[in-house]
Amino acid sequence: MTTSVLIAGAGPVGLTAALMMARHGTPLRIIDVNEGPTTLSKALVVWRRTLQVLDPALPWQRVLEGHIRAERGLFFDSGKPIAELPFESGDHGMPAGVFIPQCDTEQLLTEALAEHGVQVERSTKLESFEPGDEGVVCSLSTGETLQTPWLIGCDGAHSTVRHTLDLAFPGETVDQRWLLADIIIDGDAPQGAAVMEGGPQGPVALFPISESRWRVIASAGERAPGQDYADPTVEDIQRVIDTRSAMNWTIREALWLGQFGVNERQIASYVHGRVLLAGDAAHVHSPAGGQGMNTGMQDAANLAWKVSLVERGAAARSLIDTYQAERHPIGAAVVKYTGRMLKAAMIENSIVRSLRGTAMHLALSVPALRRKVASALTEDVVCYRNSPLAGGGGTRRLCPGDALPDRVWGDGLVSDALRGAEALHISDADAGPAQLGLGGFPIRRVVDAALVAELGGQVLVRPDGVIAAMGEVHISQWVESLSSKAH
Ligand SMILES: Cc1cc2nc3c(=O)[nH]c(=O)nc-3n(C[C@H](O)[C@H](O)[C@H](O)COP(=O)(O)OP(=O)(O)OC[C@H]3O[C@@H](n4cnc5c(N)ncnc54)[C@H](O)[C@@H]3O)c2cc1C
Repeated sequence: MTTSVLIAGAGPVGLTAALMMARHGTPLRIIDVNEGPTTLSKALVVWRRTLQVLDPALPWQRVLEGHIRAERGLFFDSGKPIAELPFESGDHGMPAGVFIPQCDTEQLLTEALAEHGVQVERSTKLESFEPGDEGVVCSLSTGETLQTPWLIGCDGAHSTVRHTLDLAFPGETVDQRWLLADIIIDGDAPQGAAVMEGGPQGPVALFPISESRWRVIASAGERAPGQDYADPTVEDIQRVIDTRSAMNWTIREALWLGQFGVNERQIASYVHGRVLLAGDAAHVHSPAGGQGMNTGMQDAANLAWKVSLVERGAAARSLIDTYQAERHPIGAAVVKYTGRMLKAAMIENSIVRSLRGTAMHLALSVPALRRKVASALTEDVVCYRNSPLAGGGGTRRLCPGDALPDRVWGDGLVSDALRGAEALHISDADAGPAQLGLGGFPIRRVVDAALVAELGGQVLVRPDGVIAAMGEVHISQWVESLSSKAH
């Protein structure tokens, strides 16, 4: 039996899982059926909450470098501006999001992983596997058979792992075609903005990839079951811009022309003994709001430290169940609200559209509502306060299960202290647990009484940047309960 965890799929989710395990020194292998990495721009936004969970192993400044800070959403109807949604809110030092093509995100993750000595094994398919109590026997297309303690299925929407386990993927298929284009434009474009446009001919969304390179997504009418449709031409996309957009653009070059359909589905359980699923293998939904890749990468960061801790015998196996408890409800909520966003965007009736425009204009002129909508998009709202893993302590403003808030600390933010570290104890005294679980990850201690007072008590921060427990007694109890059943 190999001691290496096997990650099937080196898309953004598998790479995140691998990086977050490699940072704890967990032996792992990551395989992908494809010969090389994707060159497509696919998912274009990495939102702030994803930047936060990646930050300990991939600082957000590296993600932002050479890419575009997401500053606002602009809404138009029939070519007329109706509302603006600024993304920067609160006291975060990180950008609300970064517009970065998926191929660049994957490259950054691959480079960070290589710094830990891990390479993706390409042209290697997970063909089949047999799950058992002590491990999973996997057959690879290279002819190799291996037994792994944990198989992590990050193998996308058509997941071999999901199919092999014969898991239902309940939900629905939206009967709508969408055109997609990645184009170089001539013409003026708004800075740092995603653009959403409605109109009688259906919605169009525009996302910046660089100053002159943009993604166009446009509805293209109903999709008849079983029918094949041709990809759009440059002329089709230019017509969409001319007739449905406020942008005065001419397409200079098209880099990618395609089409897609939308499925809204989620499996019932992400944990099946020693087989775990994450990302598109576990949930798929509308691209509205750019949540898909982000949700998957956060799944991966959530499971990675848990599997690592259990694998080294420092925590009870039941810790893995908290992956389901914490991430499944988040996935369910994302499937639901991205579906609603899509339905709202699809309204064609002019009276209903006009009402929608007025409601949006009024709502987004209220600062509190603006902040609420923006923090749903940036996923700042993701919290695990109701998780069985949320420890005791906390204040009305800050509780276990919340993300560690950004606070200025030294020359940067307090979250910087988690870089290169595995867990964090913000304390007013140089004492407290030294390890996360018996024989588990070392805890970095930040002794800063002013910071403790500002946060409302001592804080123990999990490897994924989430507050585990607050207050000296609760922190000790949390660490004890983590390891009590492990040995
Ligand atoms: C046009 C488009 C636009 C999008 N825009 C956004 C956006 O703006 N924001 C956002 O968050 N999301 C967006 N998404 C969704 C996003 O691309 C996906 O959610 C994301 O790629 C999912 O990542 P993943 O790693 O789970 O799966 P994938 O990216 O699909 O990766 C799965 C990997 O597994 C490999 N694999 C499959 N089967 C096997 C096997 N048996 N053995 C070994 N390897 C295997 C595949 O080769 C692949 O590399 C968009 C998607 C599309 C298509």
